[in-house]
Amino acid sequence: MKYDPVSVLYRKSYEQSARRCFLKKLSIMWFRSDLRLEENPALMAALRSGNPVLPVYIYPDGQRLPGAATQWWLDKSLLALDKEIQGHGGQLYVVDAQETSVEEAFRKLIQKFDVQGVYWNRRYEPVGRTTDETVKTWLKDNGIAAESFSGSLLLEPWNLKTKTGDLYKVFTPFWKSLKEAYQPQLCGCPERPEFAKETSATIASLKLHPTKPDWSAGMNDSWSPGAAAAKDCLHKFLDSHLENYSETRDRPDKDQTSRLSPYLAFGEISPHYIWSVTKSRIDEYPELEKGGWSFLRELAWRDFSYSLLFQSRNLAEENWNSRFDDFGWTADQSGFAAWKAGRTGYPIVDAGMRQLWHTGWMHNRVRMVVASFLVKHLRINWREGEKWFWDTLVDADSANNPASWQWVAGSGADAAPYFRIFNPMTQAEKFDPNGEYIRRWVPELRKLPTKYLSAPWTAPASVLTASGVRLGKDYPHPVVDHKSARESALAAYENTQKAS
Ligand code: FAD
Repeated sequence: MKYDPVSVLYRKSYEQSARRCFLKKLSIMWFRSDLRLEENPALMAALRSGNPVLPVYIYPDGQRLPGAATQWWLDKSLLALDKEIQGHGGQLYVVDAQETSVEEAFRKLIQKFDVQGVYWNRRYEPVGRTTDETVKTWLKDNGIAAESFSGSLLLEPWNLKTKTGDLYKVFTPFWKSLKEAYQPQLCGCPERPEFAKETSATIASLKLHPTKPDWSAGMNDSWSPGAAAAKDCLHKFLDSHLENYSETRDRPDKDQTSRLSPYLAFGEISPHYIWSVTKSRIDEYPELEKGGWSFLRELAWRDFSYSLLFQSRNLAEENWNSRFDDFGWTADQSGFAAWKAGRTGYPIVDAGMRQLWHTGWMHNRVRMVVASFLVKHLRINWREGEKWFWDTLVDADSANNPASWQWVAGSGADAAPYFRIFNPMTQAEKFDPNGEYIRRWVPELRKLPTKYLSAPWTAPASVLTASGVRLGKDYPHPVVDHKSARESALAAYENTQKAS
């Protein structure tokens, strides 16, 4: 028979539509940073469509690639989500798009299944938004419904505006306005969800868990990813630490913050749920008022970071304040290596960096101290620190991480001024007064009297010997002198000011 391209094409499309006639219509729930079944508006809408829902996860998902620690977390989080979906008779449909793209993944899904609509919760990073717009247009052009929802923030950035109609750039008025405008939007938990079960790539095939070497033991000991663990974590925190949160939140030695950050970053718990449960506690127990509002205010910092992310072109790369574009950063590679390894000779900095390396997390107060040390004492570009955190934090978040780094560096919106330089010794003395945090993470100094723990080089030789510390051998000398580092940082800042 003669080859006839037109009839071949015709036959192919006929076969495709014939196959579709026998396929059951599906709705797709596209999971991204919302790895939960409860309080998930996009999932609820997909289920309301009346079709069985194919729960899809595409990796990577079309925004900033996760770092090593978040890959570790993602692996466990997907396993937990899949287990929950399997409990309802379905299965997470995993697409490995490492060699292709999200758009290509959808093209294949639509060819393979008879898809009525695709549902997702919105994201706010420019690159993710562009991907979503492309996918939405393509789906609609192909006659498939595409609907997006607000599932990750208390209020989406465009819902909070100043009197002049601008988006907020300063936190305090942002918080005031959020507190007034916000009403928790709870959508509940699907009772008997009908999930589709189709064979796909496996979670293991994404190779998110580290091998050769597997460095994740410390994280494994510290965390249980997944939506059930997230709820547990919230309730334990509310029961035990909410009352004193405003006093203890700055104390790394007490370790009494919620530790909800990775669960929030992966969307394993809804901020609406956190707000409404916390608010009910405040209403019921007046003694929780102070701690409760202080905690909700921190939660609102997350929304604020997302508003900044939404307003910026590339928050992790571009200075919010362009006056910092010509700042005199140094390329101190040995200082950077010492900082990453927790061997700067400043115990509070080293304790924080070791906590990060071991557990994938660091207390907020110490994050501020180590970040300040990097950008001010070592004068290393904040982007380098942001990237290191991105790779090592289990809660690495595309809004909170760059916004916080720019806040510390002084280049951000509503930032701490560059000339306010954290003194690592006084920070340690104030926020770790008995040295418990330092002793936990820098055990070679554990026998040093508390008096010298923030600055071991000030201890007399006899005290160092009695404590078993040989400076330069067991524990490093300071990589920079605090006073002169401070002066050069201020001079560099002055130069930037003069130049602009
Ligand atoms: P809690 O004190 O219990 O607060 C509850 C929640 O509120 C947190 O889980 C978090 O979602 C939010 N929150 C608290 N503080 C802040 C803050 N300052 N900014 C924004 N949101 C906040 N947080 C991340 O979630 N991901 C990051 O990648 C990240 N990088 C940071 C980098 C630097 C240099 C600094 C200084 C801070 C960074 N933070 C980041 C903010 C903060 O340190 C963490 O959110 C907090 O330590 C998480 O611990 P927690 O859950 O116990 O917080």
